[in-house]
Amino acid sequence: MAVTWRAALKAEHRSAQAPSEFFVAVETRRQSTWLNRKPAAVRAQCFDDRHQQNPRIIPVLFHRQPLYFPAVRASYDVIIAGLGAMGSAAAFHLAQRGQRVLGLDQFTPPHTFGSSHGQTRIIRQAYFENPCYVPLLLRAYELWSDLEDCTDQKLLHITGGLMVGRPESSLVRGALQSSQLHNLPHELLESHEMRHRFPALHPERDMIALFEPRAGVLIAEKCVQAHLDLARKSGATLQFNELVTSWNADGTGIRVQTSSGEYRATSLVLTSGAWLTKLLPDLQVPLSLERQVQFWFDPIQRTADFQPGRCPIHLWEFDSGRFFYSIPDFGRGVKVARHHEGIPTSPESIERVVSPIEIEDMRQTIRRFMPGADGNIRDAASCIYTNTPDGHFWIDRHPHCNPVLIASPCSGHGFKFAAVLGEAIADLICNGQSRFDLNLFRTRF
Ligand SMILES: Cc1cc2nc3c(=O)[nH]c(=O)nc-3n(C[C@H](O)[C@H](O)[C@H](O)COP(=O)(O)OP(=O)(O)OC[C@H]3O[C@@H](n4cnc5c(N)ncnc54)[C@H](O)[C@@H]3O)c2cc1C
Repeated sequence: MAVTWRAALKAEHRSAQAPSEFFVAVETRRQSTWLNRKPAAVRAQCFDDRHQQNPRIIPVLFHRQPLYFPAVRASYDVIIAGLGAMGSAAAFHLAQRGQRVLGLDQFTPPHTFGSSHGQTRIIRQAYFENPCYVPLLLRAYELWSDLEDCTDQKLLHITGGLMVGRPESSLVRGALQSSQLHNLPHELLESHEMRHRFPALHPERDMIALFEPRAGVLIAEKCVQAHLDLARKSGATLQFNELVTSWNADGTGIRVQTSSGEYRATSLVLTSGAWLTKLLPDLQVPLSLERQVQFWFDPIQRTADFQPGRCPIHLWEFDSGRFFYSIPDFGRGVKVARHHEGIPTSPESIERVVSPIEIEDMRQTIRRFMPGADGNIRDAASCIYTNTPDGHFWIDRHPHCNPVLIASPCSGHGFKFAAVLGEAIADLICNGQSRFDLNLFRTRF
């Protein structure tokens, strides 16, 4: 049995037996031994001092445990497992509300092993996937802008965005529907108008595009770092290179076991991206992981046409159900990638090397729709989509354990929402509900 040190010290004063039955566990055995010989008041002062120096050290008293019992078992309001795009944002919003937050990541984020690396991520409002996302997006823009102000750096570049396809394509129809429903500024462009305004692009004659002026690009790793920095400043404890191995509910809260020890919390947020299913061993969750490759090419002609001021982000449904997108040259080359059609993968087995065949395959699409970008390949990186069966997010309480919130599988389009989902997670944890309609994201499989 473990009790907090304050409660235990009180008991020590009250009960004649208590002093012999309790001993102190702090971070080292030597210190524990030393402290155990001290009067209760001295111990309390020492705990206060140590805790102030390092909030990770929250002393706990153990009842009839041997002295070499693992030292600190700290207790928090919320533990966040995974500090990528979603977890870093959640850590910030929760800490900002005064929650005692422990954020844990198996690596040192931002890193290149999950789903949030590769310099840039598209943000757009005319959401072809479903108009329900639009209110979240509008709030996301506000929060990204706040994050820029708080950290005094540029995270969001507005470039405008083109959703290109045939008029009946799900991309064009869906983007138009969202724009009309939510009164978003937009224009419809014929193929020749597109070529004229954006000469880098070569749409086919029967293609049209919806242009939305507010689309743009987030600088991905900087966004994650900014959330982490602000989370720390707001009082969150963030621990890297610490793997969450398991968790369990014990009636009074959640115990989280990691590669370094064990912690307690009232709530647990699972934002573990591609690793999520490992932390849900009892649920048969039909998530599929997909390898996605991002490519950067040097333009060979009309270089200026690929610069952010001249070229919007563009997403194409070039054949029915087949998508690719491109981001103008932010200094590393023109970024191009397919959206889906990746091979099934896992974080452990993913092939990081991008083959010449894959590069050639991407080039064929480039030659067809943006031939000026068919220059040297500058870089390529593989990354993981964590897909739900219907492609919508999964954000909900654990079906059998209410204090656990699942908030990560974003089916390859979640980054732009990270700021607002961080806020929504904080709302769900602190108030039990979000002001946004998250019904689309509930457990449904
Ligand atoms: C190539 C590519 C392009 C994309 N383009 C876009 C785009 O343009 N626009 C857009 O909006 N979205 C885009 N997305 C999707 C978006 O990037 C992801 O939805 C989002 O980044 C996922 O964030 P996450 O926090 O869920 O996962 P991650 O950022 O991967 O974070 C998960 C974290 O959990 C940690 N973790 C996992 N398990 C444990 C454990 N047991 N213990 C401790 N730590 C653990 C991991 O180390 C990792 O840091 C793209 C994705 C890819 C792969």
